Amino acid sequence: MRKIQKGESPKWFEAWKDNFRCEKGRRAKYKEDFPDAERRKLRKELLEEQGYICCYCMKRIDINSSHLEHFWPKSRFKNLDMDYQNMLVSCEGETTGGDHCGHKKDDWYDKDMVIPTDDKIETMFRYALSGDINPAHRGEKEAVEKKMICEWGLDSFHLKRNRQMALAETEIFEMQDYTEEEVWDTIAYYDGRQDGKYIEYCNVIIDVMKREMLQ
Ligand SMILES: [Zn+2]
Repeated sequence: MRKIQKGESPKWFEAWKDNFRCEKGRRAKYKEDFPDAERRKLRKELLEEQGYICCYCMKRIDINSSHLEHFWPKSRFKNLDMDYQNMLVSCEGETTGGDHCGHKKDDWYDKDMVIPTDDKIETMFRYALSGDINPAHRGEKEAVEKKMICEWGLDSFHLKRNRQMALAETEIFEMQDYTEEEVWDTIAYYDGRQDGKYIEYCNVIIDVMKREMLQ
């Protein structure tokens, strides 16, 4: 997965919440009080922040193919439903009801689960040329990594196929004559944005490249 560099909450969003509190004399709730137009505006900012890839699977998303995702579920963490730091943007999955990501995760919660804004997130999973995803650790850390893969549907058939295709499209794994410097240059390319957008499945490609081409 890719770590999300979370910025400050947008000023207009904080002002909207303050204004609501002044007018109504209580805290605004996401589900009941936050209007569609503002939700869409916030989602646009989150898309910019994330470089137009899903917070969980790194699939390409845009304003019409994503939803606002509360990482710490609204049902359990009622006071975090309007907290910008708890807001991410997820893809819709690929089947009705969601076979992966936000809709699949839904209200699932585990005290050890790791938010994609945490540095740790990039060290928790290993990807393979086949498109498979596996826990990166053995032992104690393995249990939560396994649960996150399963509960977020990161091992879904569709995602595995998408990752496999993204890796095949790079064509870099067919070339054996890359120097180490060229590999690092290529990694830097997949690590960067073009027109504000990350390449979809970028960290899948980076992870596989580091292990297949640098060792
Ligand atoms: Zn996704």
